[in-house]
Amino acid sequence: MEPPFTPADLAEIVRAVAALRAGALVGLPTETVYGLAADASNAEAVRRVFAAKGRPADHPLIVHLADPASLDAWAAEVPHAARALAEAYWPGPLTLVVRRASHVLDEVTGGLDTVALRVPAHPVALAVLRAFGGGLAAPSANRFGRVSPTTAQAVHDEMGEAVALVLDGGPCDVGVESTIVDMTVDPPVVLRPGGVSAEEIARTVGAALGEQSDTRAPGTLAAHYAPAVEVVVVTAQDAASSATARIALGQRVGLLAPGVIPGLPAGIEILDAAGDAQGYARVLYERFREAERQGLDVLLCVPPEAAGVGAAVIDRLRRAAFGSATERE
Ligand code: AMP
Ligand code: MG
Repeated sequence: MEPPFTPADLAEIVRAVAALRAGALVGLPTETVYGLAADASNAEAVRRVFAAKGRPADHPLIVHLADPASLDAWAAEVPHAARALAEAYWPGPLTLVVRRASHVLDEVTGGLDTVALRVPAHPVALAVLRAFGGGLAAPSANRFGRVSPTTAQAVHDEMGEAVALVLDGGPCDVGVESTIVDMTVDPPVVLRPGGVSAEEIARTVGAALGEQSDTRAPGTLAAHYAPAVEVVVVTAQDAASSATARIALGQRVGLLAPGVIPGLPAGIEILDAAGDAQGYARVLYERFREAERQGLDVLLCVPPEAAGVGAAVIDRLRRAAFGSATERE
């Protein structure tokens, strides 16, 4: 569904809001990936999210809000830079970590005294949030450690009966998770690269960003976002020889690359990465799923340029490669 909403679309949205009010889970399209949404003020509903995902309870969730003005209702204090970022990028693929307001549930924050907040840019998510009138805790709608869904079908495949319903907002426009910035430190630190680049954030804040310390953001495991296919990151120069060697070993090999690679062996399965970094991000998780469906042994991935959302794609490729390598040891 997309605006202008038909009466049938509106009926679906009303059904979703009623389900959320009743403490059920809803598959929610956002511009980044599909979320598994629950009433962020209902501890039991939030616990259901963890059960459905099979996610450890100490991993905090992002609370989705209807508008930037709601920031003050969920944060105990809003630093000047956080307000500037919210004004510049909300609605959009940027999550701000701030000190939490006292009403924010431990179930949502994993017991931390901070909370992650975002206003999504998808018209369906915004319609649901406005009608719902509160915050929605919505991690990606996949089983823990698996690839995030970027289509309604992928949510059905991942979550099955755990969701009351899935709103179909079409394929996600950004395709990878939001950028997370820790605003409780000065200068702010990017905890996870995403749809808004670190360069853009530094420009808006008007200062260089801090370095991420060794203590990672809770929940950002090195082996995250891994498909059930071995992912290997290769350079454009090495792609053809690596594919040839693996095919000679009898492996079923796929290739994901932002451009044309010369000299590829016969029998390689080419999955289209759609040109620039933005196109690559948009299709990345769907290509991972396609590689699984095709029963490939290995997916060779040539990363895009690191500028813009390219940094987020490179980050997810690295995690997928790490995850598939450790799983196979
Ligand atoms: P997602 O699966 O996209 O909802 O990702 C949620 C991620 O947001 C978590 O795994 C954390 O990395 C991050 N996050 C959420 N809340 C906080 C917080 N209070 N402090 C730091 N990181 C957070
Ligand atoms: Mg996730």
